[in-house]
Amino acid sequence: MGRLEGKVIVLSAAAQGIGRAAAIAFAKEGAKVIALDINESQLKKLEQEHQGIQTRILDVTKKEQIESLVKETEKIDVLFNIAGFVHHGTILDCDEKDWDFTMNLNVRSMYLMIRAFLPKMLAQKSGNIINMSSVVSSIKGAVNRCVYGTSKAAVIGLTKSVAADFVEQGIRCNCICPGTVDTPSLRERIQAQPDPTQALKDFMIRQKMGRLCSAEEVAHLCVYLASDESAYVTGTEHVIDGGWTL
Ligand code: NAD
Repeated sequence: MGRLEGKVIVLSAAAQGIGRAAAIAFAKEGAKVIALDINESQLKKLEQEHQGIQTRILDVTKKEQIESLVKETEKIDVLFNIAGFVHHGTILDCDEKDWDFTMNLNVRSMYLMIRAFLPKMLAQKSGNIINMSSVVSSIKGAVNRCVYGTSKAAVIGLTKSVAADFVEQGIRCNCICPGTVDTPSLRERIQAQPDPTQALKDFMIRQKMGRLCSAEEVAHLCVYLASDESAYVTGTEHVIDGGWTL
């Protein structure tokens, strides 16, 4: 029997990268997965290739779309908020439009999703929320990650706040803080650099293990946090960074 048998898991950013790997790992462990993203073609592929995954086009910044999903969801055991964007630059490179875009997608979307699903979880007297943060947050500063680091620090704050407010009502809330994970968007960021080969090397070297993390390695941690094996764990940030912050 799978470790997530009978659980209903809703997760965002499931079309590629960590979200896709987590959706596949959850389904393999027996969960019923509702996989959200705005990338229709990649979502379709995910649903066709993997049993137990139902997909839905949903923009996590749109309150009406979230509310109609909540209405149609009978039961939810795990809400996993993953969608996020990496803006490259210092505070001087980040204009108000960049700032607002990142804070809207990386933080406000999680506020909207949690606020919409929490009443259902409270009625069930159980619920498990996982948020995607990063070690680039309140844990560590990184060059050219001003608004990104700010947004991911806010995700840690949001996680602890929800955990503290609802622990006595059967709700737990944790976040995941990866180092550098090999995903399509990371590859795009590398290709956008003047010397992509050197950029990849630089990304690898900053992890003390000297390599990138795979999305599947993060997915193992996601399975643990989504399962009852982590039933006593709440309000925590789980670092998975190959020793970057050692
Ligand atoms: P990615 O950036 O490759 O893919 C992100 C997915 O989010 C895409 O499928 C995209 O279509 C979807 N998306 C974008 N806007 C959306 C919206 N408004 N509504 C719904 N879906 C939307 O994925 P990744 O690199 O695996 O990153 C996933 C999360 O993990 C992000 O929050 C990121 O900040 C975090 N993270 C990534 C790394 C890394 O090195 N890759 C490290 C630490 C944290």
